Amino acid sequence: MAPHLTDLPLTPREQELVEAARRFAAEVIEPQAAIWEQKRQAIPRDVFRRYADAGFSGLEVPTELGGQGVSYLCKVRVAEVMAHTCFAATFALNNSQATAARLCREGTDDQKRRYLPRLLSGEIVSAPGITEPGGGSDATAMRTRATKVDGGWRIDGQKAWITNGAHADLLVLYAQTKEGAGARGIGSFFVDLHAIGVTRSQVYSLIGGAAIGTAELTFNDVFVPDADMVAAPGSAFKRAMTGITAARTHVAAMANGIVEECLSRAVDYAGKRTAFGAKLLDHQGLRWSLADVATELAASRLLTYHSACLIRQGEDAILAASQAKSFAAQMALRGVAACMQAMGAIGLKDDQPFGRHLAAARIAGYVDGTTEIQRDRIGLLLPKHFGRDRDKGAES
Ligand SMILES: Cc1cc2nc3c(=O)[nH]c(=O)nc-3n(C[C@H](O)[C@H](O)[C@H](O)COP(=O)(O)OP(=O)(O)OC[C@H]3O[C@@H](n4cnc5c(N)ncnc54)[C@H](O)[C@@H]3O)c2cc1C
Repeated sequence: MAPHLTDLPLTPREQELVEAARRFAAEVIEPQAAIWEQKRQAIPRDVFRRYADAGFSGLEVPTELGGQGVSYLCKVRVAEVMAHTCFAATFALNNSQATAARLCREGTDDQKRRYLPRLLSGEIVSAPGITEPGGGSDATAMRTRATKVDGGWRIDGQKAWITNGAHADLLVLYAQTKEGAGARGIGSFFVDLHAIGVTRSQVYSLIGGAAIGTAELTFNDVFVPDADMVAAPGSAFKRAMTGITAARTHVAAMANGIVEECLSRAVDYAGKRTAFGAKLLDHQGLRWSLADVATELAASRLLTYHSACLIRQGEDAILAASQAKSFAAQMALRGVAACMQAMGAIGLKDDQPFGRHLAAARIAGYVDGTTEIQRDRIGLLLPKHFGRDRDKGAES
């Protein structure tokens, strides 16, 4: 028998974690997600602790360091099932988790000792800081400066659109150390967001996705000790780009999760409500619309899982991740809108999740590289993967 689309090679323990994530989302996130959105409120801190208590804050962190030590595939499935209830909350929780994973891969023993237990317990919350008010796609043009001083660095500049920025404690900040050096001059640092000189200059009010708690942060002569450098100039940007392949696949999985949720709701509704003497689902026009959503969702999942499997095997997933994210983000916009249409006017009510999921589909098209940037990346890789001379290139 052909495997089901969600039959990823997970161990029994990983499958249990996926089911635990489904329960966590239903019990902790679902009851509050609409309230966070209506109140324009970032995900509350106690949710980070409950997430940590349930074992999700260190999915990829090795067990000997206090994490779950599960595969990237498991992490992707956990994100997908949690996003059914709220993309924004899943994204916020995962961004903090990503710092814990990064710390294990790249941190010094001293950094692990100081930050890892507190990240894993949900005591501190974190995020990456690359984007600036002047732009996000062209990250190497960043203007935040790190100037070498005795015993450390002085940071000056601004970061924009920082996930959890409304309340986070720790930022993995990227800053330029040498004017005009581009990617080669960028270093990364752990920055305590309660340090002198750090201001939360603006918490954004968005049309949706409030749980992400995005904010603008200003750094005015902030001292960071040498011990808090994460990656030196020359390697920081390269490492960020390596990590972004996994992040893109992860966002694709979350986009798939919201579409599956909307489709289930729309199918149930259209199977009960009648119009012109028949169930909505018996009207071909509507049935075909939802059929297309189901087909696109299946295609998107296959792209996403393909990318996730390449990442897990340590293979080059740059093309696969960009294809998965670009397709999933666009599919989610079409899919959520089609499901919402099937609900009639009820889909607009704010006790229904469609509005939140529609905003989330838009967000999926921006974070970790916009859809245009994914297409650009795919385009640049066309000769390598599709040119007639590609095999000759591989031999040489
Ligand atoms: C909810 C949310 C959370 C986020 N969290 C974080 C975070 O935690 N940390 C962080 O560092 N950043 C974060 N971001 C920022 C995100 O990464 C940026 O929004 C993204 O990189 C795009 O940058 P920008 O918004 O400045 O758009 P710009 O780069 O100004 O682009 C504007 C438009 O021009 C297009 N464009 C740009 N260059 C090209 C090109 N070469 N070819 C074709 N089109 C192009 C873009 O695709 C886009 O449509 C977050 C964003 C959102 C919405």
